[in-house]
Amino acid sequence: MRAHEAGALHAEGYRGPTWLQLPHDVNALTPSLWAQNVGRSGDGVLQVAGVPVTDLAAKFGTPAYVVDEADFRWRAKEFAKTYDEIFGDLCGGADVYYAGKAFLCTEVARWIRDDGLNLDVCSGGELLTALRAGFPAERIAFHGNNKSTAELELALDAGVGRYVVDSFEEIARLAFAARERATVADVLVRVTVGVEAHTHEFIATAHEDQKFGFSLAGGDALEAVRRIVGLPSLRLLGLHSHIGSQIFDTAGFEVSAHRLVGLAAAVRDELGVAVTELDLGGGMGIAYTEGDDPISPKEMADLLRDIVTRECTAYGLALPRLAVEPGRAVVGQSMITVYEVGTVKKVDLGSGHARHYVSVDGGMSDNIRPALYHADYSARIACRVSDAEPILVRVAGKHCESGDIVVHAEYLPGDVAAGDLLAIPATGAYGWAMASNYNWIARPPVVAVRDGRARIIVRGETVDDLLARDAGVTPGRAAGSEGAAVQ
Ligand SMILES: *Cc1c(COP(=O)(O)O)cnc(C)c1O
Repeated sequence: MRAHEAGALHAEGYRGPTWLQLPHDVNALTPSLWAQNVGRSGDGVLQVAGVPVTDLAAKFGTPAYVVDEADFRWRAKEFAKTYDEIFGDLCGGADVYYAGKAFLCTEVARWIRDDGLNLDVCSGGELLTALRAGFPAERIAFHGNNKSTAELELALDAGVGRYVVDSFEEIARLAFAARERATVADVLVRVTVGVEAHTHEFIATAHEDQKFGFSLAGGDALEAVRRIVGLPSLRLLGLHSHIGSQIFDTAGFEVSAHRLVGLAAAVRDELGVAVTELDLGGGMGIAYTEGDDPISPKEMADLLRDIVTRECTAYGLALPRLAVEPGRAVVGQSMITVYEVGTVKKVDLGSGHARHYVSVDGGMSDNIRPALYHADYSARIACRVSDAEPILVRVAGKHCESGDIVVHAEYLPGDVAAGDLLAIPATGAYGWAMASNYNWIARPPVVAVRDGRARIIVRGETVDDLLARDAGVTPGRAAGSEGAAVQ
């Protein structure tokens, strides 16, 4: 989190948070923030895989999530290839699970399936989406701190490959349901390793005051393994930890790997059982603004290899098969959100300084992260380039909350005006996935673009969708709607 915006105005004028630099060219697209096939055409219009955003907006409306399909698939394949290459000679490769909660629909599940990644799900809904897409159940890992009996039964009946168990109740429930089906469920134990990572910093503690996992320090994790080993309908495969999100280096992974491998050694010593899989979770960071400088997936994999090898050597353990679970690092950069500007308001900050509030036709219902985590994003005018002097802006949404911010601080050309299209890069992770109907605003479509062709992979909602569950409305007869899009 980077909430350190200077409260006081500087003598030379308010310049926004310290990381925000006045751009040399306010039309330029910093490559690390944008999907690979996003660029400006000769006339200055932003295009995605050859399709101008002006065409996309005309055809699909705004707001719209636009995913650069080739970029997504390149990142997915790169992850699979990188981990294969770096861990191939060591432990027969490593498994990359795409964290479906970042963004999942049937089309994405098929991309993931075909591009060689496995899949993490954390609810019956995500599981059913993957199954409906024809995703092989044995390549799915089922997460969650409160999986219901119905969800576990659904997963067992589908043949899900791994259960990351998170409570003593779940161990009992899963063992019972598996026994009823005369099957054996493969499990990993989610361990609370006492590491909390966030961007540049991590905190290592003995205890973790949180809902996920079995406490390592409190002895619950070892007790969970004991119970699993004693249950014939469960098979212990490994240990799992997930330390946080938007992580920029490997210091936190180092501590978590150390603690997990220590537990694996304790399991061997006490129970004579080998831990054959080690899942270090996700959280690999991406760049949302020019202030972010994450390490590449390849550098991360190299460092993880060093860390895990060193820890296993220290404990005299054979190297378990490694797994990681990136969500954001696969999908984040592949998607942009296109909005239309509706109003521009100049707000006096005193002492001759001003901030311009640029309000767009979406907001916290299509991207809750700025409001929820004070997450930072960037923005560019997408429909044109401009020679106007940059001004400091805050991009706001249209919701009835003053915290409804899309971009806290950015420079845009001073002539930004109603009717302009804005593009926000890196909205692929936890944008659509966390979208809501707050203020009864319809959720936007997701449009996939590849090789000059755009198609809807999730359609936007209509007034009929909004009223479909309202018991006071006659089905299919939403007054005045005629199936129209709302915006
Ligand atoms: C959220 C989550 C992930 C993915 O996190 P990213 O920050 O998107 O990489 C992976 N594993 C688990 C268990 C998670 O809860």
